[in-house]
Amino acid sequence: MKKDTVVLYPAPGMGHIISMVELGKLVLRESPPNSITISILITTGPYETPAITSYITRISHNYHPSITFHRFPHLSVDTGDRSRSPAAIMFDIIGLNTLQHFSHYLHHIAQTDHHIRALIIDPFCFSALPIAAQRRIPTYYFYTSGASALAAFFYLPKIAEQMDKSFKDLTSTYLHFPGLPKLLASHLPEPVLDRNDPAYGDFIYLCSDLSKADGVIVNTFEDLEPIPVRAIADGCCVAEAPTPPVYYIGPIIADSIDKEVEKRHECLVWLDSQPNGSVLFLCFGSRGSFSEAQVREIAIGLERKEQRFLWVVRAPPRNTNLKHVSEYEDKNFDLNQVLPDGFVERTKGRGLVVEEWAPQVEVLNHKAVGGFVSHCGWNSTLEAVVAGVPMIAWPLYAEQHLNRAALVEDMKMAIGVEMEDDEFVSGSELEKRVRELMASEKGREMRERSFEMRERALKAWEEQGYDLSFIRKHMKIDC
Ligand code: UDP
Ligand code: UDP
Repeated sequence: MKKDTVVLYPAPGMGHIISMVELGKLVLRESPPNSITISILITTGPYETPAITSYITRISHNYHPSITFHRFPHLSVDTGDRSRSPAAIMFDIIGLNTLQHFSHYLHHIAQTDHHIRALIIDPFCFSALPIAAQRRIPTYYFYTSGASALAAFFYLPKIAEQMDKSFKDLTSTYLHFPGLPKLLASHLPEPVLDRNDPAYGDFIYLCSDLSKADGVIVNTFEDLEPIPVRAIADGCCVAEAPTPPVYYIGPIIADSIDKEVEKRHECLVWLDSQPNGSVLFLCFGSRGSFSEAQVREIAIGLERKEQRFLWVVRAPPRNTNLKHVSEYEDKNFDLNQVLPDGFVERTKGRGLVVEEWAPQVEVLNHKAVGGFVSHCGWNSTLEAVVAGVPMIAWPLYAEQHLNRAALVEDMKMAIGVEMEDDEFVSGSELEKRVRELMASEKGREMRERSFEMRERALKAWEEQGYDLSFIRKHMKIDC
């Protein structure tokens, strides 16, 4: 008898792979023991960093034989080509991989004793959809951001059709998406900002393709984003096709058992000595970084307010194509060169600066932490929600401005920073927002709301909270 397999095809990048692995574990948990295996397709080459390789090794070991990885052969594409945007390069690589290796993989699997029950793909891997359809494999998108961003993606092709300029040139135009707060056109994700970027067409295609799958699985829960969830359910977001089934299965958060931890991080030890709820945590995702001038301005804001803080600082970006994105582990980075003279000594005892990386989930769940300055990446957002920590929203790239609008205006769990035209945030602006969050009536209300949302997130984790009907329908064997 053939073995049942669910194939997962994440976009490259640790964040995408981790989320897919967590989804795979959920599918396994919901299926009878030993009834199904999970196979995860990996884009290699420069996208497979040492951190990804060791993560894959750990998962393969911890979940053998239920989860296996299949690495696509390395494609020779110039990822350093500065004349093409990073998104255009990524679309090229995924497109080529899908055409050459994914098709071959399906053909190969058909000759073995495996039967593919379903395919779950990242929206960036949309070119897999028609290939899977030819083989009649039920295919779902896994959308790793929230319902707000999904509502915008669903509706974006309609808006794009009505525009005669690039979004980047519409600097004072607000866009209106059904079920969402208004959004400045130039705050859309980078791949779609410039009509002349080859990534533009691919991105719009990706958005219209979302409605063509058997369903869209979303890492959120309905209580967190009731307004966009309703707009999607009412069919207001997908303009030119029926809305596909949408399954809200979150909040999925990476499991710390799968992380590489040698000993308790020094920042957690430092937090032990701080009063409850007193520390502001500043962290901007796995790649977010700032110019030296902006780093100094943050330092000025923190110093003036005499705020207790834990701040993760990364090297300023060197690749100008990647505004706000730092290369991993910049060996030449010297923290003292970017912080104001004497800052570390003057804030000793009440502040700690950590270079590159802190264990964010553990930090957010530490009782000393009372606020979080975040870039509004979706994983960070869910982690803060589950920890019940209110935020100051400082979006940098991708769909983070959409997340910010939802956090500030709908969820009321964050205060937004006001940015100047070039996206610079002054020290005095930061100081003002920190005071609002940590020491005002508004901040107190936000804290209460965050605690309440934490309870609802925990409830969504209980089995009845999940919408797992897609698993029951296509993947669970004995139903
Ligand atoms: N990550 C890690 N070590 C690293 C780099 C990243 O553990 O050196 C993990 C991190 O825990 C987070 C994820 O990578 O969950 C985000 O990675 P990435 O920025 O590649 O994701 P993307 O932005 O593409 O979603
Ligand atoms: N993260 C972390 N420590 C850091 C920076 C990031 O553990 O110093 C983790 C964080 O907990 C989250 C992920 O990296 O799981 C960032 O994902 P998110 O979607 O928020 O942002 P991205 O990195 O994709 O921009």
